[in-house]
Amino acid sequence: MKIKVSDIGEAGLHIKTLRKPEWLINIPELASEVRDTHLSSNINFDLRLTKVLREISVRGNIWFAIETPCARCLNPVDLIISPEVKLILSPEHVTNDDYGDIDYETYNGDEIDLGGYLREFIAISLPIKALCREECKGLCHYCGVNLNLEDCSCKDDWVDPRFAVLRNLKI
Ligand SMILES: [Zn+2]
Ligand SMILES: [Zn+2]
Repeated sequence: MKIKVSDIGEAGLHIKTLRKPEWLINIPELASEVRDTHLSSNINFDLRLTKVLREISVRGNIWFAIETPCARCLNPVDLIISPEVKLILSPEHVTNDDYGDIDYETYNGDEIDLGGYLREFIAISLPIKALCREECKGLCHYCGVNLNLEDCSCKDDWVDPRFAVLRNLKI
């Protein structure tokens, strides 16, 4: 996603665009529908670029959906993910660490490629795990039934495998 610095006028530059899942070349497995966790929408961008002297501020949102298995019951969960973009780009010679939670990067010349930065915002916005709902009961560890849908009697007659041998012991 290349931007010409000279295209950012007085009023700034509004970028509203989308990319296919394959655009995410830093996490290619997310584009594959055969994977448990994959993108289930295009990646939508709504960004505003403004320029003060040579410093460029990029703000806005990314929006996309992923499908991922519930960490407890493995049913597919649809999640909408919408990371906020806060980025400042400056010509290389300027350094300033005092930007708080805003990402501060450098650029050279008249062209900036936002792709790498935006892919990074997406990568860090991905959840480590998802639940279909907070109170999901998950799968029975012993028989594998989905405890949200049915009960099983495993807990009642469950015997610690270390003692199972005693069950059949004839004394
Ligand atoms: Zn679940
Ligand atoms: Zn069970």
